[in-house]
Amino acid sequence: MSRLVKLSSNAFYVKGRVNIGVVKIEGKLLLIDTGLDDDSARRALNLLKGLEGRLEAVINTHSHADHIGGNSFVARRTGVPIYAPEGEIPFIQNPLLEPALLYGGYPPPPLTKKLFMAKPSKARPLTSLEIGGLEIHRLPGHSPDMIGIAVGDVFYIADAVFPEGIVKKHKILYGFDPERMAESLRTLMRTDYKIYLPSHGSPTGEIEELIDLNLAAIENVKNKVLAVLEEGAKSTQTLIGDVLEGLGLKYEDPGMYMLNASALKGYLSWLTRNGKIICFVEKNIVMWALK
Ligand SMILES: [Zn+2]
Repeated sequence: MSRLVKLSSNAFYVKGRVNIGVVKIEGKLLLIDTGLDDDSARRALNLLKGLEGRLEAVINTHSHADHIGGNSFVARRTGVPIYAPEGEIPFIQNPLLEPALLYGGYPPPPLTKKLFMAKPSKARPLTSLEIGGLEIHRLPGHSPDMIGIAVGDVFYIADAVFPEGIVKKHKILYGFDPERMAESLRTLMRTDYKIYLPSHGSPTGEIEELIDLNLAAIENVKNKVLAVLEEGAKSTQTLIGDVLEGLGLKYEDPGMYMLNASALKGYLSWLTRNGKIICFVEKNIVMWALK
């Protein structure tokens, strides 16, 4: 059951599988993300009735479907503008780009479900939002141009950090670019807020430990890729299969496999950029090997 949780005098959130932030500034209400679908957006709008003030705008932290899935409902119901970081706007306006990015081509049906593909909505650049009192922190990596938003002592950190349960269960933390994910985690480590709210998890004042856990998970996957290549050159598919096996992961759903395979390809790019591995084509198969 969704409920509105108070974090400070002007910061709240709708607790759910994906938390939706609610901020009150000078009597104006802002939503941070809109959840997975119409239902999550409807619940959030209903809960706003318990607060004084009018909804002025939505800010999307990034364009993943579970964060923007309620955009079209909120826009239709309230007519408020939706703001987003510039690099995320194409994905919000043309949601087919997200599964296309994950797949590397026109996506098959397992990737066009609502978990991976939201309904389209219009978004404006966040730089054009004229409301004071918000601090925008750039936290790219998990998605190309993700942001976090701080209001007073409360920092909404989107998907920059995953809670312990998710880290232990999933092992691969989905991200577009793991190198920049790690950089953003280190950026976060240098901040000092009283309360941090990850989109998937509970508010915490002790973010350092969680950041270390997330950094260790990224390092673990990177090392697993290198360990698998110690055995010799491998094709992309074999390499991904061996890394998943080594991490003890098994997917029944092709969509979940493709999501994690896409994340692992980000590691291959990172290691290639750093000169640790190389790729080449052999008998029409892309191969990866230690340099
Ligand atoms: Zn996300």
